[in-house]
Amino acid sequence: MSESGYVGRFAPSPTGRLHMGSLVAAVASWCDARYHGGRWLVRMEDLDPPREVPGAADDILRTLESFGLHWDDEVVFQSRRHEHYLAALQELHEQGRVFPCACSRKELSGQSVYPGHCRDGLSPGRTGRSERFSFHAGTWSWQDAVQGAQVFDAKLLGDFVVRRADGLWAYQLAVVVDDIAQGVNAIVRGADLLDSTPRQLALRAALAPEFPVSHWAHLPILVNAEDQKLSKQTLAAPIDPEQGGSHLLSALEILGQPVEDLRGEDQGNLEELLNRAAARWDIRKVPMGPIHWQGEGQGAGRA
Ligand code: GLU
Ligand code: ZN
Repeated sequence: MSESGYVGRFAPSPTGRLHMGSLVAAVASWCDARYHGGRWLVRMEDLDPPREVPGAADDILRTLESFGLHWDDEVVFQSRRHEHYLAALQELHEQGRVFPCACSRKELSGQSVYPGHCRDGLSPGRTGRSERFSFHAGTWSWQDAVQGAQVFDAKLLGDFVVRRADGLWAYQLAVVVDDIAQGVNAIVRGADLLDSTPRQLALRAALAPEFPVSHWAHLPILVNAEDQKLSKQTLAAPIDPEQGGSHLLSALEILGQPVEDLRGEDQGNLEELLNRAAARWDIRKVPMGPIHWQGEGQGAGRA
């Protein structure tokens, strides 16, 4: 148990092996938790079987361990938590915060914001396919430790899906239900999720008003030469545990942390490198990004 009460987490989706973008999120959330004397949990977001790669979950966990990124408690697998998501959906129904939506993908094509067709009830003869959270009023704001003050207007994001037409749970709902259940109060993750945060603030306010997230930090995203976010889709190179030391130094460098004195250290001793980085972790040094990342040896530059 931590003295500080800080509970952070790393929540990878097992859609492939860790790449530099995901390693950055793991290292930053770990350092932030350890610096604050907090706990660091790992949750496997395996909610979308068609997108998953067999063996990826194990591979990610083994890679984290090989870096000395040890987690507290058991790893939570979202695929085993169906009844918790169902209970949350029922709770939101009772609050009148969700509604069935009959719109097909085709009907919504070309609309960047859900137009609210089904918000006030389904027209006769239509049947609900997905469930949406009513998110059409109010603004949501927070002070982000990396990206600064953030304000989002719910109207511009629109009512979002919490249960998909194929019956799968939406990321937004599952993340919030699990963050609440795991006692998470500090979220450090990629800035590609910035516009998920207002949605998650609203869900959290509905499901656990007494227990808000008190610390948010959205890390710079890494982009390739074509300005595309590093991901499996853009063929980001997987992390090679054999080169742990140089990957770790790259991740810290991307995060704006001093690494020069660590270069001379024994780079095989990743735990020691990590502990040193965590002891002097300074989130104020983390750049907003995006950051151009071509691979090892080229350093990190602002995009
Ligand atoms: N599973 C999400 C992803 O890999 C991250 C979720 C989160 O950190 O909230 O993109
Ligand atoms: Zn609809």
